[in-house]
Amino acid sequence: MNQYDVTVIGSGPGGYVAAIRCAQLGLKTALIEKYPTLGGTCLNVGCIPSKALLDSSEHYHNAHSVFAEHGIGLENLTVDMNRMIDRKAGVVKANVDGIVYLMKKNKIDVLTGVGSFVDKTHIIIAPTEGGEAQTIETKNVIIATGSKPTVLPFIAQDKERIITSTEALNIREVPKHMVVIGGGVIGLEMASIYARLGAKVSVVEFMDSLIPTMDRGLGKELKRVLGKIGIEFFMSHKVTGATRAGDVVTVTATNPKKEEVTFEGDYCLVAVGRAPYTAALNLEAAGIEMEERGRIKVDAHLQTNVPGIYAIGDVVRGAMLAHKAEEEGMFVAETIVGQKPHINYLLIPGVVYTWPEVAGVGYTEEQLKEQGKAYKVGSFPFKASGRARASGDTDGFVKVLADKTTDEILGVHMIGPRIADLIAEAVTAMEFRASAEDVARMSHAHPTYAEAM
Ligand code: FAD
Repeated sequence: MNQYDVTVIGSGPGGYVAAIRCAQLGLKTALIEKYPTLGGTCLNVGCIPSKALLDSSEHYHNAHSVFAEHGIGLENLTVDMNRMIDRKAGVVKANVDGIVYLMKKNKIDVLTGVGSFVDKTHIIIAPTEGGEAQTIETKNVIIATGSKPTVLPFIAQDKERIITSTEALNIREVPKHMVVIGGGVIGLEMASIYARLGAKVSVVEFMDSLIPTMDRGLGKELKRVLGKIGIEFFMSHKVTGATRAGDVVTVTATNPKKEEVTFEGDYCLVAVGRAPYTAALNLEAAGIEMEERGRIKVDAHLQTNVPGIYAIGDVVRGAMLAHKAEEEGMFVAETIVGQKPHINYLLIPGVVYTWPEVAGVGYTEEQLKEQGKAYKVGSFPFKASGRARASGDTDGFVKVLADKTTDEILGVHMIGPRIADLIAEAVTAMEFRASAEDVARMSHAHPTYAEAM
């Protein structure tokens, strides 16, 4: 029987980063993945393919709707969905192949199959495509099995017309009318892709604001700007069902006046969040405790109630973000060898890759009010930025929240061009506990979007 210092279950950004760090620290490491490709949700059906399609659809949208204003004329503009989806598949392949290379380079044993606990120190790997199961012995385990799309129990998802984000990344035609249930990050990114390609898109949201966990001002501005590309929003609507007849899907909802309304389209995307994924792990065999919402319970060191068994990423509490999972992967590897790592969860930025992009880090204004903290606000609109005027991207703003007495930056929230990259400046400043004045006195190249900071 093969023996390991550490066995990582799941090869997403949490798992593969944890495996690499363990190997770098001299631990004999195995990585178990049930799918034939590595990289988990993020690389296969999440961050990377969605960004590939967001970029493709943005090119089309600009050619269709923006180039003319720059004096560029185009005739016979077309969209080849097969080519777009194939390109996306190529981008995914390059990324997942990169992980295979990294595993080899770091001498990590990749075991393909479904991993489940036999007991605290033994894991059985059942191959998904036939063959014999193998059992390994391990001193430590890192569970990084991620998450799956949440299903609404009253909606039968056929994964052809009533779909999740996974299928939405593979539609080989431009939908006529896509009804998106959920105005969160994934729903809005998918809505943007198809609206830019010419589909009619209706977003039906239960809450009265978009991206409600981020600073309130961001969702408000995003709704206004996405409205300009034709996305229609139905806020405070409670979806009650979705059915399919042939190629037609009908979504029913109750509006704020308590009336029943229906939406008819050719696709319905259910994007109401994601749930931790622990099926098949047989956690009971190791005596691992769970907590609410199907998450694995962990302590401040990301250790479960069983010594030597850790859990990271989407399967534990906290934001479901790839870079959060990565941080936790590093953290656990270093903890196992006795180091004293640290994660500042407040400084894990959140980003939405719509156009304009949305990003935030630190406390929101709502949180500061709730805490009764004295703060001041500085806000700069992109319409006053020379760089933004030159490119024609004048929607949005950068908002900095700072402590009223000490001037320490407490939160930065932005919506605007390329701010998914600009948020890194806010993270750096806050990591070094900069004051708002520190950042204001740094030289920012002119003209750049970064000057808005
Ligand atoms: P996952 O990436 O979910 O990986 C878990 C892996 O474990 C999977 O490969 C699974 O097959 C495997 N597994 C599960 N059970 C077993 C088992 N028993 N045996 C063997 N293998 C098993 N986050 C961002 O930060 N930025 C983004 O732009 C972004 N965009 C997204 C877009 C979409 C459409 C979606 C769906 C998600 C997006 N996310 C984004 C979220 C991000 O993908 C997740 O937060 C991240 O992948 C979580 O990483 P993880 O390692 O915890 O789990």
